[in-house]
Amino acid sequence: MADRSSGREGGRGRAAKVVVDRVLRGVGVSSGIAIGPAHVVDAGALLAPEYAVVEAELEAEVQRFAAAADKARRQVRKLKSKASTLPGSAAEEIGFLLDAHFAMLSGSRLMRGVERRIREDKVNAEAAVQAEITSIAQSFADMEDAYLAARVADVREVGQRLLRNLMQHKYQAFSFLPEGCIVLAEDLSPADTALMDPRRIAGFATMLGGAEGHTAIMARSLGLPAVLGTLGLMQGVQNGDTVVVDGITGQVCVNPSPDVLDGYRRRRAELLAERAQLKSLRKLPAITRDGTAVTLNANLELPRELDGAIEVGASGVGLLRTEFLFMNREDLPDEDEQTEILTRIVANMDGKPVTARTLDIGGEKIATALRGYFAEPTNPALGLRAIRLSLKEPKLLETQLAAMLRAGAHGNLRILLPMISSIAEVRRVREIMATVVRRLRRRGVKIASPLPKLGIMIEIPGAALSADGLAPFCDFFAIGTNDLIQYTLAIDRGDEQVADLYDPLHPAVLRLVQFTTEAALRARIPVSICGEMAGDPRYTALLLGLGIRELSMAPNNLPVVKRRLRGLDLVEATRRARTIMDQTDQGRIAALLDDFNDAAA
Ligand code: PEP
Ligand code: MG
Repeated sequence: MADRSSGREGGRGRAAKVVVDRVLRGVGVSSGIAIGPAHVVDAGALLAPEYAVVEAELEAEVQRFAAAADKARRQVRKLKSKASTLPGSAAEEIGFLLDAHFAMLSGSRLMRGVERRIREDKVNAEAAVQAEITSIAQSFADMEDAYLAARVADVREVGQRLLRNLMQHKYQAFSFLPEGCIVLAEDLSPADTALMDPRRIAGFATMLGGAEGHTAIMARSLGLPAVLGTLGLMQGVQNGDTVVVDGITGQVCVNPSPDVLDGYRRRRAELLAERAQLKSLRKLPAITRDGTAVTLNANLELPRELDGAIEVGASGVGLLRTEFLFMNREDLPDEDEQTEILTRIVANMDGKPVTARTLDIGGEKIATALRGYFAEPTNPALGLRAIRLSLKEPKLLETQLAAMLRAGAHGNLRILLPMISSIAEVRRVREIMATVVRRLRRRGVKIASPLPKLGIMIEIPGAALSADGLAPFCDFFAIGTNDLIQYTLAIDRGDEQVADLYDPLHPAVLRLVQFTTEAALRARIPVSICGEMAGDPRYTALLLGLGIRELSMAPNNLPVVKRRLRGLDLVEATRRARTIMDQTDQGRIAALLDDFNDAAA
């Protein structure tokens, strides 16, 4: 970090030293380089709702507050462990501050005060937090002590963290931001990211988040350069500072010097030129050098990506994540609304298959309207999510299936079930689907005929290991490597602290992919990969060598994967895949694959 600096005015009206070329490192999750003025997301200033709570509900309200405080302690602990690796005195300074926040969240006057107010004033937790913060701030101010006055800001910050956790549904407002700006935030949820318009926002960076979480996937879908898990991001950055987000190297550069800025601009121009050149592949078939056809499909996170999928020449939609229907709203979408949106997508694909997945809410993807359906899980990735929630609340599933059956009448729709772990779950869905079909026919509603194919995600190691048993009960497999890697290696895909351990080339992961593929081929059902591995040309030769012939990925990645497979000799790739599958060492596997790719380059 250079300190060739100037005495520019800081945001708070005092002269602040501007550090030039401050480079921060994180996880690059979305290719491309963005350059623009910083917009620092102000995490504070929430307006708390106030309402009375009846006697019988008071204990539940105290528990809701306890859960929010618990979450706040986990967040602060996580921020502290990140801060501990900051260089110089920054680690110590921020560490002290976060220790103070942690203390305020543990048996302090603030915590006791909020609980007392909920019980005695019979009000909701948000109102109690707001009242207690105001009262503490007032008493600090009355003491006329400079040290305590400075602590008021900390009390307010802790209060805002509690409020954010209590009011999980805060939506970010990005639409008013100046065009071309770079969003910097402590954390962004997939739902927040979905609200970013790539025509307005140039890119974003956060302190938290890993390479394969849904925020990262959303960034790739939107084609937004992004760096997550960035150490020290929120310290010393002001609104309006020039920021470069390099989604390839995972670097964030704050206030670059003219020379450094020029370098980034040149690199960005090269990337854009390469992208334009890749467009020429659109009309060329997706076949290997020795003539094997491969199906390249698109993953859609949001309907607005559909044009992009068509533009890059996708053969179909291999994964339509329907979570978007439930995000950033307070109510649930009904059958008609879901039918209308799905129909539009199916009709626009003009007979090409659209694989619509039933709701995969849970884990890091939470929908406000579904909050009442499950308690805060101890371990969200292993909790009541995806098909488990749909089967526990069959109304949700029935509505989705009805919409899919109706949309299927307008084109080629396949239904995909997330997080399947057993034959019993598939059977239960088939029973529910049969009931829904009967009900729609009685209503005289037009539905898909023949009925849509029903496939399952293979993304739990247990499902992969019993793929041969599951195959006779479904029409196709879609291998979800994002979760498969997470669960096989016990690595949270959205946690930047373990991002370096998340390895698609771990032999255990490859064996599960191989076992699943072979089980599908034996059962003569189609099998595809729709996890992020499918969109990375590094893995194309290996996946094809293992027998995969259908890949589904973010539309932006499709051209590079097509370029890779068109240069590939499948016989050679299959031979190399066999050699790789004999290995047990990840380093050796990576070297064998990279050598093979380099030889083709
Ligand atoms: C996967 O797990 O690989 C997958 C495609 O599903 P999602 O990323 O939505 O969990
Ligand atoms: Mg998944």
